[in-house]
Amino acid sequence: MQWIDLRSDTVTQPTPAMRQAMATAEVGDDVYQDDPTVIQLERLAAEMLGKEDALFVPTGVFGNQLAVFTHCRRGDEVIAGDDSHLVWHENGAAAVISGVQLRTIASKQGLLEPSEIESRIRVGEDIHIPRTGLICLENAHGNGRVIPLATMEATAAIAQKHGVPIHLDGARVFNAATYLGCDVKEITQHVDTVMCCLSKGLAAPVGSILAGPAAFIKRARYNRKLLGGGWRQAGVIAAPGILALTEMTQRLDVDHDNARYLAERLAEVPGINVDMDDVHINMVWFALPDGVDMPQLMDALEAAGIRANGAYGGKMRLVTHWQIDRDALDRTVSVIRNVVAG
Ligand SMILES: *Cc1c(COP(=O)(O)O)cnc(C)c1O
Repeated sequence: MQWIDLRSDTVTQPTPAMRQAMATAEVGDDVYQDDPTVIQLERLAAEMLGKEDALFVPTGVFGNQLAVFTHCRRGDEVIAGDDSHLVWHENGAAAVISGVQLRTIASKQGLLEPSEIESRIRVGEDIHIPRTGLICLENAHGNGRVIPLATMEATAAIAQKHGVPIHLDGARVFNAATYLGCDVKEITQHVDTVMCCLSKGLAAPVGSILAGPAAFIKRARYNRKLLGGGWRQAGVIAAPGILALTEMTQRLDVDHDNARYLAERLAEVPGINVDMDDVHINMVWFALPDGVDMPQLMDALEAAGIRANGAYGGKMRLVTHWQIDRDALDRTVSVIRNVVAG
């Protein structure tokens, strides 16, 4: 049975073209750096992201943690939003792997005020203080909101002034570029390194990219091996990654339009409160009216072949992707409407 799966864009399955590319991929041994498909993916990713070089890594968390590990010394401070993926969803890995201290900033719906960042930067000779080793931004933010280019630019100016690098958690950076109507390079030009996920809305079965200066990627390649991420005939999984970048980045506007369509239909249901201003990419957040029987709603959705995550902090999140069309969204809204109406 084909579920209508609205839990996340991580649930996307490879496209038929991706499965075909996997079956026929030319492979080598990537630790020897002679897997031609991995080399092709890394070159393409570097070019698209506007960086000198790129490295194919297993997951987004791996890419973010590899960036922290490669940028920082033990005891360094990493400035990050208090609701960032790095702080919330990465198992405290920055402490475990890199021995860094995370210095959080109150995020305004994912946006970090450049002035707030500047006030936390610590550089200089004082023997008491840790050094700020890295600033970590997130765009699009995991809450689905996109950070404006002007904020990225202002943050870059501050980071440069103090000689601190910026890493972008760009798990959904192509969604951000689609929303802003710009080339992704206009976002990534403001950061030193960027991680982007091939496995979310871009539908590759596995894998993320870490891109940055050539000397940085060389050290990151060494560190990836150290962390057990030196893989062999990885061309089989790099092949769908190439299609993720060349084809799937071109159709993200469909997912965004569908998210807006879903938000508008949900807003028509009496009692449902949709966060319309937060519908930037492929995510819709909404609150159900008081008294809705959540277990009943989840059962009704499942009975209709629809997968969704339950409410979190009083709100539900639904995510669109290439396997979700308007018919699937109409069916979802009708189930929710029926349960809400009692
Ligand atoms: C999903 C996500 C990651 C991690 O990606 P995985 O491939 O699941 O490890 C990192 N940052 C953000 C903002 C994400 O949404």
